[in-house]
Amino acid sequence: MPVAWVNSYIYLGYPLVQSLSMVSLKDQLRPRMTAAHARLFAYNGATQHLNQTARAQLFKTYVTASVGYLLAFLPLEPSVFASLDSTTRAFTRRCLDYFIYSPTALLHVEAAAPSGVALVVRARVQLALSLQNSTATASPAVAVYAKLAALPCKVHGRSGASWVDDTYNFITTLVSLGVPPPRPSSPFALKSTAKAYARAATYALLRAEERGAHIDLRAAPSISGPTLSATARQYVADDMFGYSLDSNDLGHFGAASPLSARCPGGSGSLLTKTLTTSQHAVTLLARARLGPTCLTMAPLGPTLWLRPLVCSVDWYKGTAHGFICPLCPSGAAADAWHILNVCSHPAVAAARVPARVSLADLLARIALLAATAQTLNSLPAGRVRARAAALDVAAFSPSLNWDTPVGLFLAYRLCLAMPFPESCIAANERLGCSAAALGRLLDSVCVRDHALRALADAWVTGGARILDTIGGCWRDAVNASGAPPRTPPPALSHFR
Ligand SMILES: [Zn+2]
Repeated sequence: MPVAWVNSYIYLGYPLVQSLSMVSLKDQLRPRMTAAHARLFAYNGATQHLNQTARAQLFKTYVTASVGYLLAFLPLEPSVFASLDSTTRAFTRRCLDYFIYSPTALLHVEAAAPSGVALVVRARVQLALSLQNSTATASPAVAVYAKLAALPCKVHGRSGASWVDDTYNFITTLVSLGVPPPRPSSPFALKSTAKAYARAATYALLRAEERGAHIDLRAAPSISGPTLSATARQYVADDMFGYSLDSNDLGHFGAASPLSARCPGGSGSLLTKTLTTSQHAVTLLARARLGPTCLTMAPLGPTLWLRPLVCSVDWYKGTAHGFICPLCPSGAAADAWHILNVCSHPAVAAARVPARVSLADLLARIALLAATAQTLNSLPAGRVRARAAALDVAAFSPSLNWDTPVGLFLAYRLCLAMPFPESCIAANERLGCSAAALGRLLDSVCVRDHALRALADAWVTGGARILDTIGGCWRDAVNASGAPPRTPPPALSHFR
């Protein structure tokens, strides 16, 4: 027997009006998140010495989980997303000690802190799916939802007068941007479906923003492999707007992410999945991913390049494009890509020779651990493909040439612990290519976080060790040369 709606309903202290458009919730939510952040991190000595992963997880668990039920009722408006973002962003910068002008998207993805869009959409869609799929049809919330959903629609969508209408309109808008509606595979998959949907919605909205509202995104190619360059902004562009959308095409949508999407912009960086990796290694890789600015910070930055304790805004702006490598005639701004793959200074080139042996070992180890993770989790789909791809990695590795563009790309991705899909490699280069085989393996592995711990530990530790060796060699050579930092001319800038 359905319970009739009355306007005096109170849910967890908040009045529920029939329209459920509770704009006042937004005003209550932000102070709540800010206060929780202050209590947990700003004035709390116990959390100040935790590593980055623990801090990020604490924030996500405590702050975003404790306000989850409120998030579901927030309006789906850009101003709401932005106000939530500023809270999570401020925390993330402080927590990870990031560069003040580092791209926002990078902050979100490295800390695996969802953006405001993702938080609100996930909470709202999860609630909607729960109410749609609930068997407790007599409960007030389910009855109200069913009643609202049954109201007559206008020709072009619903009237937009209720919470259900808002949600419906939002999903319809996203369908026009190429995002399929959320369809849980089972009543137990509501949470993961909402999560995957929120991620796809975030990408679609960002893409629409980036390319202009009048571009038909359905006509745009869905797969655009990342370019082989390596600046912080390029990462963000690749990962937010590029191949991470592939997870849609891989048939995993709505269930879980393949390992190839366990990257910035996918379902979070491997850096946040490690348990035994040293703080040094995590810091090194997190900073190296920032592009040229990483060389104004320890541990890779030469002494004369390091940022002073107190920096002016002008200093940040002046160094945002990095500094020209003084060791070689390339004239390029030095960054992790340059040090690993390009710099022709004799000492750096010499350090690259043993590093490539270590890279080959790391490649074999990663392939083994990825295939093992797949087996352990016993998900039938992809297991055979994963095993075949792991064998291909082993078979093709002896003929791997690290000096080709694909070889340089692979070296870079291995060192920075950034998984990638097979579609990164051009179709005509995939035959007999170990990078493509690794991408295929990472596409096939679709497991839960805990099954990836061993892989994340090995990959992050191994990659950081190689980068540390070559980077240390480059840094010592710059220190010995005594070269002062020189900013590149605007034409060479990575951040145009
Ligand atoms: Zn150089």
